[in-house]
Amino acid sequence: MSHPSFPGLSQGVSELRASEIRELLKLIARPEIISFAGGIPDPALFPLDAIGKAYQAVLQDQAAARDAFQYSISEGYPPLREWITGYLARNGITATSEEVLITSGAQQALDFIGRAFIEPGDGVVMTSPSYLGAIQVFGTYRPTFISVPMDDEGAVLSELEAAFRKQPKFFYLTPDFCNPAGITTSLARRRAILELAHRYGVAILEDCPYEELRYENPRIPSFAALEGEYLQQPGNDGRRLVIYVGSLSKVLTPALRIGWICADPALINKLVLLKQASDLHCSTINQMIACEIAKSSHASQVEKLRKAYKERRDVMLEALERCLPKEVRYTHPDGGMFIWLEFPEGIDGTELLAEAVKDIQVAFVPGSAFYATEPKRNTARLAFSLGEPERIREGIERLAALLQNKLRANRAA
Ligand code: PMP
Repeated sequence: MSHPSFPGLSQGVSELRASEIRELLKLIARPEIISFAGGIPDPALFPLDAIGKAYQAVLQDQAAARDAFQYSISEGYPPLREWITGYLARNGITATSEEVLITSGAQQALDFIGRAFIEPGDGVVMTSPSYLGAIQVFGTYRPTFISVPMDDEGAVLSELEAAFRKQPKFFYLTPDFCNPAGITTSLARRRAILELAHRYGVAILEDCPYEELRYENPRIPSFAALEGEYLQQPGNDGRRLVIYVGSLSKVLTPALRIGWICADPALINKLVLLKQASDLHCSTINQMIACEIAKSSHASQVEKLRKAYKERRDVMLEALERCLPKEVRYTHPDGGMFIWLEFPEGIDGTELLAEAVKDIQVAFVPGSAFYATEPKRNTARLAFSLGEPERIREGIERLAALLQNKLRANRAA
């Protein structure tokens, strides 16, 4: 549905459009639809007992309750920042609390970084495809997007170097099991990207909300961890170019809206001022609850989620392997929530979605939404985080049969 514009809106805002896909997806909230569209955590796996206990503990302690409902500092609740530095240290990132700013989810972190860096026309490098929410939020600052394709080890180096030659402000990527393609950037590729970034002086913005949701193969160090090692080596350039964004949304619960940025203190100091100007601070009570449940339940949640989501991923991969026409390619994610399909040219993901919803009651997200430039229309994202294995199997079987029919019809035409 299109709305008339309001006089006086800035160009960035007047160019904002509700995506056609979002409109389509509104139609699929019917129970008979098997949906692979929602890339969200399964609420049945939320740590509700721990959340209940944490609220009770705060509310029963008068002093704590008064603090919990009071204004607090923009940098974030100190014990939560400390928990985050401990979490980062366990993953090879050495940082002090002064290098961590708590944000309202990773999404606000991306917004602040966009606001801090982008002036209209500035280059911003994105993997192709990329997280839709990042494309949307950076888009409001009107950059010139430069897209870099990925192979199964991550961004293609020769194309990334060509992009870095244009002196962009930063390179945005999700290194682990990216949303939407499920691709993980390999260790060798990470090292090479880091080297390129330092050679060209381009910041790397790594968005890591899924890093704990790994179902096979050993963990790969983040760019922030690798840069820490690089900065120990003699003759390094001394610059800290990696901006790490984390989130508790996928492991604990999204509604607490807790994310963070870990970066050079010179940048964090500026971002704290943006936080102050924007919303003063994250909800004090939410930060206190997040801190409690992070301490009590983060490790057990990770274990529980890995088990549940791995089973769903395996069921989806098995069904794809068994039923999908051979001309359709799909990724094999080591973790996260997403598998990416690439159809033969001529099959349009948006048209396929309309047919799938109407004829076989299956939904997914057409891939064209996930491109900052030049969308590939013959693509789709499947999320396996929601739903019983049996429904996942059934949905893939139906989708595969629809694709078989379409390909047969295309061949006959
Ligand atoms: N980055 C990526 C890659 C995501 O997939 C998401 C959520 N879908 C976010 C950031 C935003 O997460 P948060 O809830 O922490 O704002």
